[in-house]
Amino acid sequence: MPMNIAIDGPVGAGKSSIADQVAQRLHILHLDTGAMYRACALHMLKKNISLEDEERVAEELPNIAMSVRFSDGEQKMFLSGEDVSALIREHHMSKAASDISKLPCVREKMVSLQRELAGRQSCVLDGRDICLHVLPEARYKFFLTASASERARRRCAELAQRGKKVNFETVLADINDRDYNDMHRALSPLAQAPDAVLVDSTALTLEQVLDYMLSFIEEQADVL
Ligand code: C5P
Repeated sequence: MPMNIAIDGPVGAGKSSIADQVAQRLHILHLDTGAMYRACALHMLKKNISLEDEERVAEELPNIAMSVRFSDGEQKMFLSGEDVSALIREHHMSKAASDISKLPCVREKMVSLQRELAGRQSCVLDGRDICLHVLPEARYKFFLTASASERARRRCAELAQRGKKVNFETVLADINDRDYNDMHRALSPLAQAPDAVLVDSTALTLEQVLDYMLSFIEEQADVL
């Protein structure tokens, strides 16, 4: 029986980096579910379909040839055989993913793909609705968060490292917008599951968060 670890949390909380590390340490896969919504949005944009046109999006959904491949533990997203892993990370794709993720037909399809994958193999899934909706039966559940200003600070530092100058206030406003959208949408809004372990990383390093989560998993594994 596959062992799944679910990590939810708001944008920029470090879910993806942590999920990557947890997966590597436990020698299991990391499925970044946000990347699936991003790829779905990219497909629609490539077809010039408005992300608000639910009918057209629903019509086009069966034509998406999305595949998630893992090489050296790294997740790569493919659309019709093309590696779109870099394209889906472009700035405008964050808003596009957030927009398309509100549509019930899209969520239904993504959730079913995620459950299928998690049912086949042990993995760490990170996203917004994993603990409450996608895998409520997951063995381990975490809600990873940090204050909005700390998340904005980290994002600015990351962009500065890549030589990109950004305004802190703009990044913070963007984070607040996306938090609001994710927490207030009608379907599967972002919320902490009552049985998920809350990890507030505002004052913690990535290594401290990782140590905490791995120790928790180890302790629970002894109890089970
Ligand atoms: O995590 P990431 O920023 O890549 O996710 C992009 C968008 O996809 C999020 O802002 C969120 O609206 C949506 N998403 C979701 N459910 C998930 C993962 C992501 O609605 N499980």
